[in-house]
Amino acid sequence: MLKIGSHISSAKGYLAMGRTAESIGANTLQFFTRNPRGGAVKEQDPDDVAAFLAFSAEKGIGTLLAHAPYTLNACAEKENVREFARLAFTDDLARLEALPGTMYNFHPGSHVGQGVEKGIELIAETLNDVIFPEMQTTVLLETMAGKGSEIGGRFEELRAIIDRVELSDRLGVCLDTCHVYDAGYDIVGDLDGVLQEFDRVIGLDRLRAIHLNDSKNPFASHKDRHEKIGQGSIGLDAFGRIINHPALRDLPFYLETPNELPGYAAEIALLKSIYSEY
Ligand code: FE
Ligand code: FE
Ligand code: ZN
Repeated sequence: MLKIGSHISSAKGYLAMGRTAESIGANTLQFFTRNPRGGAVKEQDPDDVAAFLAFSAEKGIGTLLAHAPYTLNACAEKENVREFARLAFTDDLARLEALPGTMYNFHPGSHVGQGVEKGIELIAETLNDVIFPEMQTTVLLETMAGKGSEIGGRFEELRAIIDRVELSDRLGVCLDTCHVYDAGYDIVGDLDGVLQEFDRVIGLDRLRAIHLNDSKNPFASHKDRHEKIGQGSIGLDAFGRIINHPALRDLPFYLETPNELPGYAAEIALLKSIYSEY
């Protein structure tokens, strides 16, 4: 069965997210752990968590993907900015223990002129500070478009971060289709080649989740603008090959397309219709 969901607002709590997922035909979901821009967080209500876990077990909703706010920068030049990322990651990972088996995705960061090497070093340092041995969450590094001084536009950069993390068995990768295409990996013309490259550099066993987004911009433009599925430069045929690819078809897929809920419901139905069950 296709594991498919979308980004869902966490503003009304976990149970509300579960109900929303069900209403759009999703069997998984992604949410922001806190305000995506500011980083403020609401207290987690244990009753809401329990109600959500019961609801999702009953409805077959699983493999949650928690997304860290994208304003956090684990490799900022300023120590207080890095410290804020460290505190937010630590707090998020502590709260996610209430939802065992959740994946926690984050944008590696922007080195803001310090250089890729230094950025990689600082990101690994942050991860070594926040990952703890008993943790039940898998931390995912997201593949990025390589916009500005963003780290993670090359598979080699993610590999270099993983290599520097002590508890690296807690690390995986989330591949964002818009980002990799924008970064110059041709998933439209040569999906097999890109996945071979991913396997050679990072290892396909690290690949745990896919962000399914079309792109507003042409190949390799390093802009990171998501488009609705089938309406951008990646196109529906490529998405059919992606969700049915033997190396990808059993992974959970998350839409982050520019849509309200009815748009997500339509994309989920469309993707289910082109997924071959066998
Ligand atoms: Fe992201
Ligand atoms: Fe993404
Ligand atoms: Zn993006």
